[in-house]
Amino acid sequence: MTPTDAIPILIGEHWITPEVEAHTPVYRPATGEVIGRTPQCDRVEVDLAVEAASRAFANWSATPAPERARVLFSYRELLEEQFEHLAEILCGENGKTREEARGDVRRGIEVVELACGIGQMAKGEVLPELAAGIDGAATREPVGVCAGITPFNFPAMVPMWMYPLAIACGNCFVLKPSEKVPFTANHLAELFIEAGLPPGVLNVVHGGRDVVEALCRHPGIAAISFVGSSPVARRVYELTGQTGKRCQAAGGAKNVLLVMPDAVESGLFGEAAAADPTLNAVMHSAFGCAGQRCMAGSLLMGIGDASDGLRDQLASAMDTMTVGDTLSDDVDMGPVIDGAARQRLVGHIADATSADLAVVRDGREGVPDTGFYVGPTLLDGVTPGHGLFAEELFGPVLGLMRPETLDQAIDWINRIPYGNAATIFTHDGGAARTFARGAECGMIGVNVGVPAPMALFSFSGWDQSFFGDLHVQGTEGILFYTRQKTVLSRWPRR
Ligand code: NAD
Repeated sequence: MTPTDAIPILIGEHWITPEVEAHTPVYRPATGEVIGRTPQCDRVEVDLAVEAASRAFANWSATPAPERARVLFSYRELLEEQFEHLAEILCGENGKTREEARGDVRRGIEVVELACGIGQMAKGEVLPELAAGIDGAATREPVGVCAGITPFNFPAMVPMWMYPLAIACGNCFVLKPSEKVPFTANHLAELFIEAGLPPGVLNVVHGGRDVVEALCRHPGIAAISFVGSSPVARRVYELTGQTGKRCQAAGGAKNVLLVMPDAVESGLFGEAAAADPTLNAVMHSAFGCAGQRCMAGSLLMGIGDASDGLRDQLASAMDTMTVGDTLSDDVDMGPVIDGAARQRLVGHIADATSADLAVVRDGREGVPDTGFYVGPTLLDGVTPGHGLFAEELFGPVLGLMRPETLDQAIDWINRIPYGNAATIFTHDGGAARTFARGAECGMIGVNVGVPAPMALFSFSGWDQSFFGDLHVQGTEGILFYTRQKTVLSRWPRR
């Protein structure tokens, strides 16, 4: 493919180039060059994909679970064979470092591994003699055609949160990846077909808002999984409600990292800071994936004066970070996704000065000129009154806050409208317990900087970070992609 070729969509067994008027450029964020064109599909292509998925549903939903699992086992093998290639594609279109790209693919493969156990997970319940002479059985049935709409920041993991489990449960699927990272998604789909997935069970349609609205309104779709920003998550949740679909819509975040004084005093942030696990965890959480993670720590809290130690150690560590082209260099941090994201972040850093915040490290400086770079940034003096307190910035910009007590820190966390994650660093089990019980977030870390649950647990955001009832992955993922049928049977005694 050349950069001027339109990226194909997958309808049934055919990869086709849709005849659409508009395309959006796909960038290599590390250099800013255009590497592809994503077709802006609309209802026409959505109709085709849903028709293909509906045709495939009768056979696939009747395929025995062990047979479905066999296709998933083969898929897993191919994903392992293509692991480095997938990471390279992902690196190119998203800008992550190689290690981050590998992590993205690895987390996705773990969901496929979970899905391989579908027979065990989707077993129902039976109660003989529910009433005199009557047996009760509850089974988990596929819901029909499902669709997944995904963001740019995890081009492999987030789509794989969705379609492997949905398909393992006997559903057929239409995937709408982010228009900014279409290549990884297409390759993931190619491999699934190669693994023996029957035509139509997985379809891929590219585009933006028009495709999303068409999917949400389509009467042939039973369930929608969405991951992206909160305004769009809410919109998807509302639209799917109007058409009576199931919906799980994960949104944005503003995650807190709280370092207790004992963690600072006891050396966690002490002399050997460079090798310090807490400092590394904070750095990794705030600046990993250039801060473009829904689990990224974006507010750092120290208690009172302990914040000074935090700030100084962190600033020194930030000075040692290298930022650059993740495909060709051995760097700590890559670019943000596009020019618009860069402009937005640069604007926030500029605004910080006029909002009386101290710019301790300024990400506008010391970064390559070409490509979409923002360096690690530390802003000191954030309070609940600042706009930065409640706004998701989605970049390598960390705000430092100074609550006086643990209780005040928890109170501040609970004023943030999002509810994805919060982490405490401490040696004090009592403080950790108070924090874990009191912080109103769906995912809590205790000495874990990015408390992202792996495939076995659900990704359990709260408040503005999630709209719906059943989260992606884990047990809730299986419940979302299946519906219960209850059968009561009475047979004459012989
Ligand atoms: P986004 O909301 O801009 O886009 C997500 C998807 O929605 C894309 O497929 C996009 O094409 C589509 N879309 C965009 N605008 C739309 C509109 N107006 N109407 C209908 N569809 C639209 O998100 P993004 O910038 O790609 O990803 C970053 C966001 O995703 C951040 O807010 C991040 O926190 C969030 N995120 C959340 C989780 C989670 O689990 N909670 C995980 C990853 C990312």
